[in-house]
Amino acid sequence: MLNTRLHCFAGVALLLASSARPAPAQTTAQHGKRTASLVIRNALVIDGTGTPASGPYDILIENNRITRMYPIADAVAAVIGGQGNRPKADAEIDARGKYVLPGLINAHAHVQDERAGVPQEQDYELKIWLASGITSVRDVGSDTRKTIPLREKIAAGEIAGPRLFHYPFFIAPTIPATPAEARARVQDLKKAGVDGIKITGIKRDVMEAMLDEAHKLGLRVAHHAAVEETNAWDDIKFGTTSIEHWYGIPDAAIPDGVQNFPADFNITDETHRFRYAGHLWREADPARLKDVLAAMVKANVAWVPTLDIYEASRDLQRAQGQPWFTDYLHPTLEEYFKPNPMNHGSYFIGWTSVDEAFWKENYQIWFRALRDFERMGGTIAAGDDAGFIYQMYGFGLIRELELEQEAGFPALKILQHATSNGAKVLGREDDLGRVRVGWLADLIVVNGNPLENLKVLYPTGTDAVKDGKIVHTGGVEWTIKDGIPYHGPTLLKEVKDIVARARARRAGEKR
Ligand SMILES: [Zn+2]
Repeated sequence: MLNTRLHCFAGVALLLASSARPAPAQTTAQHGKRTASLVIRNALVIDGTGTPASGPYDILIENNRITRMYPIADAVAAVIGGQGNRPKADAEIDARGKYVLPGLINAHAHVQDERAGVPQEQDYELKIWLASGITSVRDVGSDTRKTIPLREKIAAGEIAGPRLFHYPFFIAPTIPATPAEARARVQDLKKAGVDGIKITGIKRDVMEAMLDEAHKLGLRVAHHAAVEETNAWDDIKFGTTSIEHWYGIPDAAIPDGVQNFPADFNITDETHRFRYAGHLWREADPARLKDVLAAMVKANVAWVPTLDIYEASRDLQRAQGQPWFTDYLHPTLEEYFKPNPMNHGSYFIGWTSVDEAFWKENYQIWFRALRDFERMGGTIAAGDDAGFIYQMYGFGLIRELELEQEAGFPALKILQHATSNGAKVLGREDDLGRVRVGWLADLIVVNGNPLENLKVLYPTGTDAVKDGKIVHTGGVEWTIKDGIPYHGPTLLKEVKDIVARARARRAGEKR
């Protein structure tokens, strides 16, 4: 059936080719240059809502919006009828054999231009993000004085990068200690022009006041729900937008109200903290956990689990030996990842096989909770929290998607988490995260089918067998952000050059 239809199209294509109509003057899209119109031809579309792939389409983009999607069958019929044509545009991308998706939304990331005080080119992170197909980033903690101007420059097209949504740390530079101080801080942040606020390590009364004030001012709140005074029940009660990571969820379902820690446990010691986090899911009572998840759904509290950022805890060697480190790991990041109690997340000092075994079990219970949460109607979004614990920007988000597959989610739902669900968490479901007419032109053109293999989304691609030969395939060919096309391989080459220069500089310093 499908074959017959394809043959039928091929016949029409021949007919089109042999017609006397002059070929429209088209130029291939240019890296970093927006034209008044851009057409993506022959696109198989995964639209980001969890519905099946469809197409092919010719997608017309005018300036920064998707303005029309022409199903090719209709375009052809119109030509045969003598009254239509396939759309023309100032530039074009041929997506034949490729898949077009909404740009990915990294719902938990950090804008970083340094690690442990050592400078790192801002471009390094921005370019890997784009090369990984990320067109929006929810930055949940960075330097507001730098990030807001950066956000504006990117929005104006002066710097290549994803859209930034800045959610600064609520507790920096000082911790608001009273409800009155909490309200004042929320007001100050609103004036500074933030998009939302990130909370963690917060007392209950301060949390209640800050969330009340944030609601009044229309600011969204992301809660890194640690093992602390508050847990998921407080997020449910006070109306947090999203729980980041996970701890506060099982912590809300522990029968005794507190985890069974050893007597010498000190949560400030990160080796302790991460070791016993590996025991937390097993201590949650399954029935209570379901109640917590159901209440989160009812209160519209979303969940951004960042599965990838804990993976080193269950398999340290895997995390340390990721193949893209060879060419793309910045020496500053490399240094930061080394075990060092001074660096957040570099806690692998005396990490044991026992720790890994507990963490493997921890993941299984976590995976089940995520599946239950979605089945009940909960919103899951995808974020990578990269720049810590051996996760590289962008690559970490693709790994996040792979881990969701391990958790048992179908690929269409996983891609929904990374696109339209991310938009929902940002409060931008009306113009971001979908391939749909009227939506902003944030799209990616992927070399391969992510429904078959999510690894095609890695900017460095993957291997496949074609015609009996091993070929290198995959990668994001084009990332279109706000109608500006960025060529994936070009971005990746630039990232490689940044790293090579940084390594040479470092080697020079050491001489
Ligand atoms: Zn984070």
